Amino acid sequence: MAKTKKRKAYAGVPPRQWNDWRWQIRNRLTRLEDVVRVLNPSKETIEGIKIATRHFRMAITPYYASLIDIDNPYCPIKAQAIPSASEAEFSRSDMADPLEEDRDSPVKGLTHRYPDRVLLLVTDVCSMYCRHCTRRRLVGHRDYQFDLKRIKPAIDYIAAHPEIRDVVVSGGDPLIMSGAALERILKLLRAIPHVEIIRIGTRAPVVLPMRITPGLVKMLRKYHPIYICTHFNHAREVTPESTTACAMLADGGFPMENQSVLLRKVNDCPHVIKKLNQKLLSIRVRPYYIFQCDLSRGISHFRTSLGRGIQVMEALRGHTSGLAVPTFVVDLPGGGGKVPIMPTYIIARSDDRAVLRNYEGAITVYMEPHRWDSVCGHDPACSQERYICQTGPGMLMTKPHTVLEPKKRRIGPKLLLKRRVDD
Ligand SMILES: *Cc1c(COP(=O)(O)O)cnc(C)c1O
Ligand code: SF4
Repeated sequence: MAKTKKRKAYAGVPPRQWNDWRWQIRNRLTRLEDVVRVLNPSKETIEGIKIATRHFRMAITPYYASLIDIDNPYCPIKAQAIPSASEAEFSRSDMADPLEEDRDSPVKGLTHRYPDRVLLLVTDVCSMYCRHCTRRRLVGHRDYQFDLKRIKPAIDYIAAHPEIRDVVVSGGDPLIMSGAALERILKLLRAIPHVEIIRIGTRAPVVLPMRITPGLVKMLRKYHPIYICTHFNHAREVTPESTTACAMLADGGFPMENQSVLLRKVNDCPHVIKKLNQKLLSIRVRPYYIFQCDLSRGISHFRTSLGRGIQVMEALRGHTSGLAVPTFVVDLPGGGGKVPIMPTYIIARSDDRAVLRNYEGAITVYMEPHRWDSVCGHDPACSQERYICQTGPGMLMTKPHTVLEPKKRRIGPKLLLKRRVDD
C-alpha cells in the first residue's frame, strides 16, 4: 500500500525521523506559525485559530496534518484538528465537566461510577488535541513529567476494592507516555489479583500510528488480557500507517475496539459511519460505541440531535454486518452514565404476543411462549436474587428495578426508582 503523502513542508524529513513517534511529538503543530508554514490556510482559518487558542490548546502531529485537505470546508480531518472560531461560542448548555467525572472521583485521577469497573486517568497530555474533546477541562493545559506518585493513590484505591475487575486506562492519551512509565503502571495493576481485564484508551493508532512499535507491543503483551480501545471517526483516518499499527496490535493479541463520536459535518451521516465501520472491521477493529457528543465547553457546534444518531443506527442494523453495528450511547450529563439509544423495533407488546419491525420495515407478530418459568429459583446452590422466575408473562423487564440507593444526582434523581417489580 502506498504510504500517506507527506506535505511539501516535510519533503526533506528522512523516513527514519518521520517514522519516529518522538520526532512527531517534538514537531507537532502547536503555534499559528506552524499551521501557516505547513498548511497555508485561508485568512478565515487563521482568524479561527487565533480566537480558539485563546481558550484551548492546539497540537497536531505532522502525520495527522498530512491527512488534512485544507481547502475543503468539510474535511473531516481538518474539523477534528484545526481550531475554529466556533469554539469560543459557549452555549448555555455547555459545562466544564458534563459527566461529573470529578464528582464521582474518590481519589484524584480515578472515576468509579459503575459497580465493577473504573476509569483511570494516567496523563492529561495527548499527541493531538481533538477539537471535540470531552475532557478538555483536563487535557492539554500543560505538559508534565510523569510521576508515579501522582497516580499511586488511585492504584491503592483499586487494590482496596475487590469489586473492581476492569480498569480503563485513559487520559489524555496513555500512549504518549514512554513505554517504561506505562509499564510501571501496568505492573502495579497486574499485581492486583482482582483486576481481570485492563483496557487502554488511546488515539495513537489514528493520530500517531508510529507510536505502535514492536517494542511497545512486546511490553504490553506481558500484561494480557489487555484490550485496546481507539477512536477513529472517519474512514479517511484509515490509512496504510494506521492499518499497520492496528495489525501489529491485533497480532499482539489485543482485541481492538473503536469508540467514535457523532460529530456534525464530520460524520453525522449513515453512509459515512457505515463506511467507517466496515473499514474498521477490515483492519480488525470492532466498532464498540458511537457517542452522542457531550456538553463540554466550546464544542456545541459539533453536536447533532439524538434523532440523527438513531437514523445512523437504523441504517446499520440489518443493512451491513452486525459486527459493524456499535451501540449508540449518550453519556448523561450529571454523571448518570451511558444510556444506549436504539431505533424502536418493538411496536406493541402484550402477554402473549409482540409486534416487531425488521430493518426493512416489515412487521411480524411473534407469539410468546405459554411457559415462562426458568432455571432461576430452581437451583438451590444459586446465591443470586431469585427474581426472574417471579416475573410473569408480559413483563417488559427481565430484571426488577432494584436500583439500590441511587447516588444523589443533580438531574433526574426521581427517575431512579427504588422499587421491585414484585412489590
Ligand atoms: C465509559 C466508562 C466506563 C466503561 O464503560 P463500559 O460501558 O464498560 O465500556 C467506565 N467508567 C466510566 C466512568 C466510564 O465513563
Ligand atoms: S485523544 Fe482523546 S483525550 Fe486526547 S484530545 Fe483527543 S479526544 Fe481528548
